[in-house]
Amino acid sequence: QSKGRARMDGRTDIQFADVAGLETIIKDLQDIVKFLQDPKKYEKLGAKPPKGVLLEGPPGTGKTLVAKAIAGEAGVPFYQMSGSEFVEAIVGVGAARVRDLFKRARAQDEACIIFVDEIDALGTKRAEAGIQTNEEREQTLNQLLTEMDGFTPEQGVVFVGATNRADLLDPALCRPGRFDRKLRVLKPDTEARLKILKVHAERRRMSDDIDLEQLARDLPGLSGAELENVLNESALEAVRKDSDVITPKHVYNAVERVLQGVRRPAQPDQ
Ligand code: ATP
Repeated sequence: QSKGRARMDGRTDIQFADVAGLETIIKDLQDIVKFLQDPKKYEKLGAKPPKGVLLEGPPGTGKTLVAKAIAGEAGVPFYQMSGSEFVEAIVGVGAARVRDLFKRARAQDEACIIFVDEIDALGTKRAEAGIQTNEEREQTLNQLLTEMDGFTPEQGVVFVGATNRADLLDPALCRPGRFDRKLRVLKPDTEARLKILKVHAERRRMSDDIDLEQLARDLPGLSGAELENVLNESALEAVRKDSDVITPKHVYNAVERVLQGVRRPAQPDQ
C-alpha cells in the first residue's frame, strides 16, 4: 500500500495534536523534540543524545504520522525513504538512493528527522528472508548503517524507523546509536478510536446527530488509517448525494463500504 506513496522531503506542519490515542508514545518522544530543537545543549551538558527510534506496529496505526509530528513539533525538516523501494531494484540502486537521501539531509546542515518506512524490507535477518542472498538488500542495508554512523551528535540527526515486524530485523539495525529505542504502536482501543474519529471529524462538516462514541464502539479492530477512511468515505458519500453536510446515513453507508474493503473479521481490542 505504501509502496506507491509519494515520498515527502522538507517541512511538515503536523503536530502531536494531530496524533490521537498514542499519548504514551508521544510522552516518550518529548526528549527527542527537545534534542532536535537544541542539539548543542546536550553536548554542553555531556548528556547522551537520542539517536534513533523504532516504531513497531500494524499498518495504518500512525507510525508515519508520529514520525512527521516529531519533525513538525521540533520545526525541523523530514526526510523519508521506504525499505520496500529497494527490494526489486537493480543491485547498487538502493545504496545510491540511500547515499542521495543522506546527502540531501546533510546539505541542509541542520537538525532533522530521517524516516525509514518498512525498514524490515531491507533489514531482515538473512535466514528469515527466504531468499539465499539478496545482494541488493544487503548493499542497501550496509549503506544505511554506514550513513547512520556518520553523524556526530551535535548535528542533531534523529532516525525513525517503522516496521510491522521488529522481530525480523537485522540486529545490526538496533545497536546503540542506531534504532536503539523501540516503541510499540498498537491498534486503537475504543477510547483511542473515539479520539482518532474526533481528530478527523473536526476537519469535516459533520451533522450534530452523528454519534462518534457509538461509531468508535462499532468499529473494533480498525486502524487509525481505516477510521480516517470511514470519515473520508462519508464525506464522499455526502458529495455524491449533493448534501452540504455529512449525515448519519452517509456514515452508515461508508462503514459498510469500508468494512467490505477491510474483508476480515473484527479483531478484539488490543
Ligand atoms: P504503514 O505501516 O502502512 O506505513 P503507518 O502506521 O505509518 O502505516 P500512517 O501512514 O501514519 O500509518 O497512517 C495513515 C493515516 O491514518 C494518517 O495519515 C492519519 O490520517 C491516519 N491515522 C492513523 N493513525 C492515527 C492516529 N493515531 N491519530 C490520528 N490519525 C491517524
